Amino acid sequence: MLYHQENDKLRTKALEIRVTDHCNLRCDKCAHHSQYLPPYEFDINELKQNLDRLSKVLHSDRVTLIGGEPLLLPELNETINLVKESNIADMVCITTNGLLLNSLDIQFWELVDTVEISIYPCSFANIKKMLPMLYDSAWTGKTELRLIPVTEFKTVLLTEPIDDSEIIASVYNKCYYRYFCNTIIKGKFYKCEPSISIPALSEHLKHDAKKFGGFLDICSFDSPETLKKAVFDYLTDTTPLTACGYCLGTSGVSFPHKLLSKKEIKQPPHNAFNPDLIQKL
Ligand code: SF4
Ligand code: SF4
Repeated sequence: MLYHQENDKLRTKALEIRVTDHCNLRCDKCAHHSQYLPPYEFDINELKQNLDRLSKVLHSDRVTLIGGEPLLLPELNETINLVKESNIADMVCITTNGLLLNSLDIQFWELVDTVEISIYPCSFANIKKMLPMLYDSAWTGKTELRLIPVTEFKTVLLTEPIDDSEIIASVYNKCYYRYFCNTIIKGKFYKCEPSISIPALSEHLKHDAKKFGGFLDICSFDSPETLKKAVFDYLTDTTPLTACGYCLGTSGVSFPHKLLSKKEIKQPPHNAFNPDLIQKL
């Protein structure tokens, strides 16, 4: 069971907190659209309020800080500490491209439970040089270190809608991001990360951002009971989100990882749907 009740709370597999939008890399078809989004003002007090509310009704196996690149967050240690103190999850993890790990202090390693480094062809040599330092820091901090080679990306986000409700429903039904990427950002609870990134690009793509919705405003519920019911109903809803019309979820085909040039990211992204982008459904 992906969601069940435990100690009067909704138990989930994974929760993500998006702490920044921007990144120090420019990966082609980044599923966060991070190269096109400006930095956003992360508010640690707002996160505290939301964790206070959500932790009364939900507990997750793990919570992961994500970006963009989460190591760009100035209040990183304070944020990890806050998440730990909220007791919303059994462990606190961070997913990073790793390039800034040599600038962090030992307190970071002592606070975080797991560091997952996505290693791309463009960053492999730098991460390899850092390995002795990474092993020492992980040993001292008693931190799990996971090195994940990423030579291919899946196509996830589209810039044009899929004009076929059967394809949308099929992609949604197979999509495991909706179970493993429940995400909090700016006081809102989203089923998945792409449903944040798709409307975020509306300004570039001239979409009406308001039509997307598809999230819960954590502060708008007047009691823990109403919030818990709303979160459960939302997570178990079988109707695709509006954002699913612009997304291939976990059904997109893979392509070799590549970095975009600064010139390329000055153009709005373009990734229109065509049936070749999707794995056989
Ligand atoms: S490192 Fe991650 S967040 Fe940064 S551009 Fe690449 S895929 Fe996006
Ligand atoms: S927008 Fe829909 S298809 Fe895309 S990841 Fe979210 S639930 Fe899956």
